[in-house]
Amino acid sequence: MNYAQTGKSEMAELTKLVTVLAQQVSEIEKKIDNRPSGSYQKPPAARPELSVPDRPPIVCYSCGEPGHISR
Ligand SMILES: [Zn+2]
Repeated sequence: MNYAQTGKSEMAELTKLVTVLAQQVSEIEKKIDNRPSGSYQKPPAARPELSVPDRPPIVCYSCGEPGHISR
């Protein structure tokens, strides 16, 4: 039985894989950091429907017509 040796080489393989993955992650992070912020628009923070200037069109769920709502 040479479980010890097998385990060792598996560990080496895993260590290699983890190293490669870590490198790839840091590459991706670099790419994200370099992305121009102008093309990316941050979505407005979601607010409760207290004072939203542009309300989404209301559609009545009773008769299906927009513009009013039915209880
Ligand atoms: Zn209606």
